[in-house]
Amino acid sequence: MPAPIGILGGTFDPVHNGHLRLAVELAEALELAEVRLVPSARPPHRGAPIASPGQRAKWIRVAITDEPRLRLDDRELLRRGPSYTVDTLASLRRELPDTPLCLLMGRDVMAALDKWHEWRGLFEHAHIVLVERPDTDTELPAAVADEVERRRVGDAADLRGATHGLVHVCTPPPLTISGTRIRELLAAGRSARYLLPDVVLEEIQDAGVYRREPAPA
Ligand code: ATP
Repeated sequence: MPAPIGILGGTFDPVHNGHLRLAVELAEALELAEVRLVPSARPPHRGAPIASPGQRAKWIRVAITDEPRLRLDDRELLRRGPSYTVDTLASLRRELPDTPLCLLMGRDVMAALDKWHEWRGLFEHAHIVLVERPDTDTELPAAVADEVERRRVGDAADLRGATHGLVHVCTPPPLTISGTRIRELLAAGRSARYLLPDVVLEEIQDAGVYRREPAPA
């Protein structure tokens, strides 16, 4: 069976070292051939991102140029309508019929999984890797917790022996970085340096994204 690939969806508003370090940690821990970063165009469950789809994709591209295990996958930006993950996984599955697909999901995201369009259908296409995050200890809703327990495997090697349908829980070394914090720092005119790659920060500052407009005189 081919080596599994990881799929990290999100708004990436903007991409930061929490995402990038997580992707590299999991690529090594789970022996993934690559991790695809999949920016969402119109996330159905949260407010619209501040940066445009083009900006968010470009920042990912410049952030990962030197890391062959990370790859931008912009299929959700090219699709019309809401960005449903189940559709993204179905389209990846058509391209990669025999490859284990691992959907990487922070606990904060998993805690709202039962609100997702056809969420149980995700397991028809992929495994889910539940990533513990230092800044979140939210309980999973009962239906999601039941599904996790039913499908859970303790050994990451099991993910390499099936194409979909399993859950693995991972606790990578914590990095307390979030898009929310970066947007707040930049809006307040403070430094976000070392929370995200310098090249991404320069692009954000050149384009003036996330700056709070001065109050009218
Ligand atoms: P926001 O604060 O805007 O919600 P975010 O960085 O938490 O931003 P996304 O860009 O949507 O959110 O994150 C994409 C995925 O990466 C999610 O599964 C999220 O849980 C995970 N993630 C983001 N930052 C971290 C981090 N520091 N550690 C572990 N997982 C993270």
